[in-house]
Amino acid sequence: MKSIIPVNQPDLSPKAKTYVVDAVTSGWVSSAGPYIKKFEESYARWLGVRHAVTVTNGTAALHLALAALDIGQGDEIIIPDLTIISCPLAALYCGATPVFVDVDPVTFTIDATQLESQITKHTKAIMPVHLYGHPADMDPIMAIANKHKLYVVEDAAEAHGAKYKGKLVGSIGDIGCFSFYANKVVTTGEGGMVVTNNSKLADRMRLLKDLAHSPKKRFYHEQVGYNYRMTNLAAALGLAQLESVEKYIAKKKWMARMYKKYLTGIPHLVLPPQMPWAESVYWMYAITLTPDAPITKDTLRKKLLEQGVDTRDFFYPLHTQPILKKYHKKGDRFPVSVSAANRGFYLPSGLAISEKQIHQVAHVLNHTLTNL
Ligand SMILES: *Cc1c(COP(=O)(O)O)cnc(C)c1O
Repeated sequence: MKSIIPVNQPDLSPKAKTYVVDAVTSGWVSSAGPYIKKFEESYARWLGVRHAVTVTNGTAALHLALAALDIGQGDEIIIPDLTIISCPLAALYCGATPVFVDVDPVTFTIDATQLESQITKHTKAIMPVHLYGHPADMDPIMAIANKHKLYVVEDAAEAHGAKYKGKLVGSIGDIGCFSFYANKVVTTGEGGMVVTNNSKLADRMRLLKDLAHSPKKRFYHEQVGYNYRMTNLAAALGLAQLESVEKYIAKKKWMARMYKKYLTGIPHLVLPPQMPWAESVYWMYAITLTPDAPITKDTLRKKLLEQGVDTRDFFYPLHTQPILKKYHKKGDRFPVSVSAANRGFYLPSGLAISEKQIHQVAHVLNHTLTNL
């Protein structure tokens, strides 16, 4: 069979092996051990925040953030309609209600102009998502949050190193959440991080992620906690990856420049955005077909795979997810998210991608779209 250009291929730093072997050799394989602290401290320093707390994955990070903010039954969390299921799951785990807002037609991040109309007396937090590596428009989101006294929990799982008006995303809201899944810009295999400048919130997240032992009496419990502890092994890998993070960010930006160079001029394609106020890290090179394209996304993706190019779909709009349909308020419509989900997919974007592969992807796309 013909070789396939995979949609993702990680690039593990040479230090990864050294640090992980060191962690194994030391015997500190569980969640105590020096790499946890080193990884947390380096991450906080890199991001310019006061506290970083490791967790088991990005979904746990979102849940822990809401739990630490005492989000519970009857509270409403505003979430963009186009994102991963982890965002509404975090709300559901707390017994809260996810409320969906359509996305911006250019960046596909939460449409700040539609936020206020969804705020009720039950609203507690807004969860902007920096989708596919492009920041959400944080200034209007923060202004609305301040006006209505709402928390902002940033989902930066796809945007390590992306900047909003010069500030690293994840460091802008009350709490920032990251994932270190294998296809993310920084990986620990499976893992996540919550970050904040608020010491009380940091302490609360440290408590809740470790079973919420009573501070006075260990193994005595006055509140419901979770086991979201990262292992020292994962943190060793994370520290190694973080030491190369600027290289990885540069690689993603280089990939985007290469794709732009080779894809510009191909009919029916909309390339990913780069707003003047943003610095995207192009976590995945996400493209959409123009609404008038004479081919459906599904057919195009199938043809691309037949020619050795693997791609991935955008997320399904949250309001159409079977487990979330009951939260779709009557009369609310999401034309942008529906259209983006119908037309969008992403191209091979792994950190190990070569110019030859990018050129080949562009060649196959061009050949397919100009011969319809
Ligand atoms: C990957 C991802 C998550 C979840 O992270 P996991 O580590 O897979 O749990 C959350 N939000 C977004 C936007 C993601 O892309």
